[in-house]
Amino acid sequence: MQVLVLNSGSSSIKYRLFDDGGEGSDGLILLARGLVERIGESSSTAAQTVVAADGTETEDVEDGIAIADHAEGFRWIVDRLESSGVADDLGAIGHRVVHGGEEFSAPTVIDEDVIARIEAQIPLAPLHNPANLTGIEVARQLRPELTNVAVFDTAFHATLPASAYRYAVPERLRAEQGVRRYGFHGTSHAYVARRAAAALGRTEEQCKLVTLHLGNGASAAAVDGGRSVETSMGLSPLEGLVMGTRSGDLDPAVIFHLIREAGMSAEEVERVLNRESGLLGLCGDNDLRTIEDRAAAGDEAAQLALDVYVHRIRKYLGAYAAVLGRLDAVVFTAGVGENSDTLRAAICADLDVLGVRLDAARNDGVRASKAPDGIAAVHADDSEVAVLVIATDEEHEIAEQTLAALEA
Ligand code: AMP
Repeated sequence: MQVLVLNSGSSSIKYRLFDDGGEGSDGLILLARGLVERIGESSSTAAQTVVAADGTETEDVEDGIAIADHAEGFRWIVDRLESSGVADDLGAIGHRVVHGGEEFSAPTVIDEDVIARIEAQIPLAPLHNPANLTGIEVARQLRPELTNVAVFDTAFHATLPASAYRYAVPERLRAEQGVRRYGFHGTSHAYVARRAAAALGRTEEQCKLVTLHLGNGASAAAVDGGRSVETSMGLSPLEGLVMGTRSGDLDPAVIFHLIREAGMSAEEVERVLNRESGLLGLCGDNDLRTIEDRAAAGDEAAQLALDVYVHRIRKYLGAYAAVLGRLDAVVFTAGVGENSDTLRAAICADLDVLGVRLDAARNDGVRASKAPDGIAAVHADDSEVAVLVIATDEEHEIAEQTLAALEA
């Protein structure tokens, strides 16, 4: 059976098509991946890459086409998958849904009731859930014979203990408004935690890990025995680490200060903290490659941005080691974690206090996507804690969870 994974954003749909490999298979096989972008604009782009059994890739790009809405985008995807001959056994669609609130702690087969329950989470994720729901509705309308499954970014963190997920605010705010910490990037943390345990030659139950998902969005998780026990994002993806354009942690009084003293509206503050802060706010760029180049050329603002970014991650690493009580591995993943040897070195510098010792030569130039099986160990032989660089694959995890939900 084939599974289509859809990640629907406000103006884009990312997708991947997997085959489950049939009975006795040792894993999913990627058949195609693609992206429909700038949906609703005058000129949209759609691109698909088909991956042959021998690994050969064939790319097909259509630029400057008119894709008016998500329904047309979905139609393009299905047409293209069918006309290229790869989609001949489609059985299910796995949808990434950002916020499951307290409602969802596992992948869930979608029906009318589930849609209503996802809609009820919109106040918690006004920037994300509506686009995810549009993708679900379009898929259900256009291909009603397929089973649709929702896979939630928050679900892996449903195991957080109350001591970690509660904010110290009145209980009524949690009960009535859902004000608590949920955590995000769950499919990525779950995927790399499982792969890290396998790389260490242990079961997940035996492992205490800190997973660092460092991409344009960034979050840390403490994973104890395969269960998330602490994570840096909270009610929304705004809390925690410094990100490309999000501030991460700040004193909530900053918000009142801006509203009161700068006359900003709640919406303006929300935009500034989500879209104009983080690395972008600190130095005017949010692409880490550019920032590293600028810092290497002596640019002070770029260096400060890197310093703040690294400092925040190290602070979380120390805190999570204390939460776990023992550390078996630190895992780096996503765009920055997988590719930037200098950032990994800066984060792990002088961390003997945690038993973490990087090996400079092993770390140099390592990119997860080029490593065998997408995993590289970059710690020194005498490091008490493993340092692993692992290529994340959220779509693969969503496909796995979609299949698991169908079997459940
Ligand atoms: P993601 O959101 O996981 O796609 O990650 C995007 C981030 O990864 C951007 O800030 C990129 O600058 C960063 N990134 C990608 N490749 C590299 C690289 N080779 N070195 C440093 N950062 C990188």
